[in-house]
Amino acid sequence: MIFEPHSIPNQDGNMIRCDRCGKRAIIFTRYSGLHLCENHFDEFFMKRVKREIRKQVDLKKVKTLVVALSGGKDSGSALLVLKRILGKIPALKIIALSINEGISGYRGASIEAAGLLCEMLKIEHMIVSFEDVIGLTIDEVTLLNTALTPCSYCGVWRKKCLNIAAKDMGADALVMGHNLDDMAQSILMNVFKAEVDRMLRMGPHRRIIPGFIPRIMPFKTIPEKETFIWAELNEIPFVEDSCPNSVTAHRGLFRDVLNMVERNTPGTRHRLLKTYETIYAMNDNRDLIPKLNKCTVCYEPTSGEKCQACLFQIEIKKMLQEAKAD
Ligand code: SF4
Repeated sequence: MIFEPHSIPNQDGNMIRCDRCGKRAIIFTRYSGLHLCENHFDEFFMKRVKREIRKQVDLKKVKTLVVALSGGKDSGSALLVLKRILGKIPALKIIALSINEGISGYRGASIEAAGLLCEMLKIEHMIVSFEDVIGLTIDEVTLLNTALTPCSYCGVWRKKCLNIAAKDMGADALVMGHNLDDMAQSILMNVFKAEVDRMLRMGPHRRIIPGFIPRIMPFKTIPEKETFIWAELNEIPFVEDSCPNSVTAHRGLFRDVLNMVERNTPGTRHRLLKTYETIYAMNDNRDLIPKLNKCTVCYEPTSGEKCQACLFQIEIKKMLQEAKAD
């Protein structure tokens, strides 16, 4: 992350003022060259989120929004923002959904923070575990000598759990807290792996893909440092600790590369997002996403015969049985 201090002095130690009102600036947004005070930062933040919600959600059609709530700053901020912007629409239901991957010493605290936020906002909170849906936990994966990192299994299983649970909850859309940094990292990772169809399924989804609850991403243009500061300013309970498995995640490499390029060339993350959106729009006319089948095991959508989540499930269960037999 590229954090700037919240209250910014200049080189002489003097206070730097908001470019809009002259009060004390709490943030410098390097990519736009703006110094902003607390109020104007909030205004700048909300303006972009409202624009994204207008672009991504058809409020005439949507009756139930499920927010994927991890207990971190981004999803917590997403829940509060939605409650503020859409909470007064009587026909619209907002529900929070947390996934427990079974990671000891980590997930318990973040689910507690998620529960606390839901209590504060009076929002219904559902918790679904890998153990119930997949029959496995990430702790069990870490015991094995797998070819892939635990995050590879975790990401695929989490997507499946979110999709199944959101369908069960009658969701018209699944709200993800992904910020600009997350988006730019995912785009870059998919480009490096030449996974264009996966990239086109990332979301936010303008078109319905049969079997998938469309994902919306109200923070997709907002850098991570800004969601962090906004969460702090709004006193959102969230957990900052990283998952113990994150040290093995490939994403860290892409985060470092992007942060370095962004430091040298501000606006890189925005331009990467723009590139993705241009490719996504081109796909409206020429369908680059292959037609999906139903997984022969769980009936979730897949491009093959069995979905990746089931293939991983079969692999890990077999490895655990072999480990027991030894
Ligand atoms: Fe799952 Fe990896 Fe994230 Fe941990 S760091 S929650 S294992 S994806």
